[in-house]
Amino acid sequence: MIKTRFAPSPTGYLHIGGLRTALFSYLYARANNGKFILRIEDTDMARNSAQAAQAILDAFKWVDLEIDSEITYQSKRFDIYKRYIKQLLDEGKAYYCYMSEDELEQLRKEQEAKKLRPKYDGRYRDYKGEIPKDIKPVVRIKAPLSGEIVVNDGVKGKVVFKCEDILDDFVIARADGSPTYNFVVVVDDALMGVSDVIRGDDHLSNTPKQIILYEALNFKIPNFYHLAMINGEDGKKLSKRHGATDVMEYKAMGYLPEALLNFLLRLGYSNKDQEIFSMQEMKECFTFKNVSKGASTYNAKKLEWLNAHYIKSLPDERIINACKELGYDFSSKLKLLHMLKERAKTLVELISSAKIVDNTPQSYDENAINKFVNEISKDLFNKYVNEFTVQENESKYEEFTNEFLQANNAKLKDLAQLLRIALTGVSVSPSVFAMLEYLSEDEIKIRFNNFKGKING
Ligand code: GLU
Repeated sequence: MIKTRFAPSPTGYLHIGGLRTALFSYLYARANNGKFILRIEDTDMARNSAQAAQAILDAFKWVDLEIDSEITYQSKRFDIYKRYIKQLLDEGKAYYCYMSEDELEQLRKEQEAKKLRPKYDGRYRDYKGEIPKDIKPVVRIKAPLSGEIVVNDGVKGKVVFKCEDILDDFVIARADGSPTYNFVVVVDDALMGVSDVIRGDDHLSNTPKQIILYEALNFKIPNFYHLAMINGEDGKKLSKRHGATDVMEYKAMGYLPEALLNFLLRLGYSNKDQEIFSMQEMKECFTFKNVSKGASTYNAKKLEWLNAHYIKSLPDERIINACKELGYDFSSKLKLLHMLKERAKTLVELISSAKIVDNTPQSYDENAINKFVNEISKDLFNKYVNEFTVQENESKYEEFTNEFLQANNAKLKDLAQLLRIALTGVSVSPSVFAMLEYLSEDEIKIRFNNFKGKING
């Protein structure tokens, strides 16, 4: 059975690159009727925090990727790791190294002076001498000294690592006894039955080390897939300069998780020229055959476009719930929602338009007034207000207004902005005729008269 995992280290928040890794892992499991698990890699007590782990869980909940079993925390599994470290020591596959920090530093300097790659020299590998006192040893694995390690990567293809170039007897347990990243990842992936390891290609260089550990521990080696990085539009690695990187910031900015996941899918996955993927479709069609080897480019406009699409097309109930989470309730305002959702790029925009349409303007945008109010437009507006009668719906308002303009030999541009400012206080708003249909007769009259008072002094 296919089993995948997402294994974040809780150092701050869930990065959108991390969410893309999680999504691909999730989809690969779902596409193959497999299982998907979440493991919090919180062994680095100095850098990890419970708050950061919670931030990851909150983001997971928001995007609604279901996990198939209890979430595991590496910090609760130290006993297990210790057991496997002991096993490797007992079998002679790992050994204690008593080199002090100073000695290591000294060695590094010598190697650098000789223009050699800094590398542990193996001095305690088969050490028979006296054991130095007062030094707490680290544990090192006996890594192969020559030969090659081949990673048959499901995205990148065959990647060959030469042992001399990349390996030394790397540390698997620090002097305080805590196991290192490469070690715990291998033990957990193996014990948890992870068949397919999917992660960012910043981890590719760890993979040969992990393969050595799988072999030393007699564990089955999983399949590996290393996803190419996401770049900003300038070709540099995605960072805050290009846009938000915290998943929850997207929620606050009014993006729907449906749009964000669809967007992240397309950062690396393509199926002909299809852009819109429902979650159901993603789960059915995901395959690594369609995942690109090269880096993908973050495109903020594309995300906005997808978000606008989902705001327009998801069921009302879904949009109402998403807006509630941002503090606005459309439950009794369906008509308003329908009027506004066609144009909104984000939920924040949708809510702010709703507030504008739903409240009698208390002030007017002075720049808009200076720009659009002149003798012609003012006269036209006054006349329109005098002749205004309530109509049945949006298109009847349009007809009524066009007839008025024709009779007065005037153009819509001389009237429309004033109507807009009168109704909302600002010059950017949904369709004037849609707003007229939505507002009650009394409210329209109040708004018209207020504005009339304003511009006629
Ligand atoms: N915990 C690692 C990270 O957050 C990922 C480990 C892995 O996927 O193998 O970068």
